[in-house]
Amino acid sequence: MHKAIRKHHTPVRRCVICRASLPKSELKRYVCTQTESGDTIPVFDKEQVMPGRGYYICNSPECEKRFAKFRGWRK
Ligand SMILES: [Zn+2]
Repeated sequence: MHKAIRKHHTPVRRCVICRASLPKSELKRYVCTQTESGDTIPVFDKEQVMPGRGYYICNSPECEKRFAKFRGWRK
């Protein structure tokens, strides 16, 4: 007999700072938004539904700090 247990599939994303792969639910999603002055700023997407290129960072305070200086989204 074999068991028909399937792991619940959780989408995994990678923290752009430390590159750890984590379940999406454990990451914070940011989306780049262009301001009226032409600047590109990352906006925290709490509901994870905003359109656009998403950037995920984990809950580590270190990553949060480094994300403030992260320039990878400036494209
Ligand atoms: Zn991280």
